[in-house]
Amino acid sequence: MNWEENVRKVIPYTAGEQPNKPGMIKLNTNECPYPPAPGVAGAIQALQSEAFRLYPDPDASELTQALADYYKVKPGQVFVGVGSDDVLAMAFMTFFHSGKPILFPDVTYSFYDVWARLFEIPYQTCPLDENWHIRAKDYKVPNGGVIFPNPNAPTGLEESQETIEEIIKANPDVVVIVDEAYVDFGAESSLPLLDKYENLLVVQTFSKSRAMAGMRIGFAIGNEKLIQYLKDVKFSFNSYTMNYPSQKVGTAAVREEKYFQDTVQRIMDTRERTKERLRQLDFRFPDSKANFIFASHDKVPASQLFHALREANIYVRYWDKPRIHNHLRITIGTEEEMDRLFEFLEKYVRSVENG
Ligand SMILES: *Cc1c(COP(=O)(O)O)cnc(C)c1O
Repeated sequence: MNWEENVRKVIPYTAGEQPNKPGMIKLNTNECPYPPAPGVAGAIQALQSEAFRLYPDPDASELTQALADYYKVKPGQVFVGVGSDDVLAMAFMTFFHSGKPILFPDVTYSFYDVWARLFEIPYQTCPLDENWHIRAKDYKVPNGGVIFPNPNAPTGLEESQETIEEIIKANPDVVVIVDEAYVDFGAESSLPLLDKYENLLVVQTFSKSRAMAGMRIGFAIGNEKLIQYLKDVKFSFNSYTMNYPSQKVGTAAVREEKYFQDTVQRIMDTRERTKERLRQLDFRFPDSKANFIFASHDKVPASQLFHALREANIYVRYWDKPRIHNHLRITIGTEEEMDRLFEFLEKYVRSVENG
């Protein structure tokens, strides 16, 4: 029985758990703690099941147009997909095809190496410096493409546009993907660099700042030539990636800018207050520009704290991996949720510190 020799074998990405326990505080997958824009509920109510009879618009034209209007680009510069994971997977397939290793940070979104192995793209990781920053010079070696999140995950650190431009400029022969899953929480977007560089692709998502992880909507913006290559691969894979309800609901969400800005501001305010409280509890963390904080404590091992929090029905993210095994990634929840976290930490951390 040799058929198994001919099977593609991969080690899949491990998503954060999605527990559903009464009274739980879920700070483990960077979802938005507030509901989506009110117009989203309206758009769902307006859906007619009769419309499900037909295939959806394969180009998602309405949503594409709404995003083009919002970001002041041409519709031909926008590509939408089923969450940014879908968009990123398509981008890996499309743009990382040179045979040379692609480059990304050693501490970063843990899906990148999974896609690289799935698509048999050679890759090489570049160590972040001791302050968790990207070193631009690491990306000035022959390579098959570059990808990194800005702000980075799970550190939350923003890289300057100067650093990013330096990397793009040094790599005119390959595509550089900036994964801006968390950019709405106060970081600067690289979208303005699109005017200068043909080889830049910016990817964003509705899952975090737009409170729609369950709808699975992501998008990429780049120059029209780049987007056309992406579409060609998508249409060689599945014409109808994005379903009809997501297209409708996503369009409604984009049109409610004020709610979006207010919600993001609320989360940023809670994040800054969370930093103060964590500092008082002797935690250390890079200065996050995302909706999470990557924290460690000198006296309380992260794995121990992770399990203790879980017992208390508070879920955060922990990875038993090199360099980051003493850190927890804590998503910013509502004010009330964070208060309950602080209440627990106050007791727990102090009791460990006092032996
Ligand atoms: C959450 C996340 C994504 C994927 O989000 P989707 O829900 O698939 O849109 C992509 N990149 C990073 C860095 C993320 O943290």
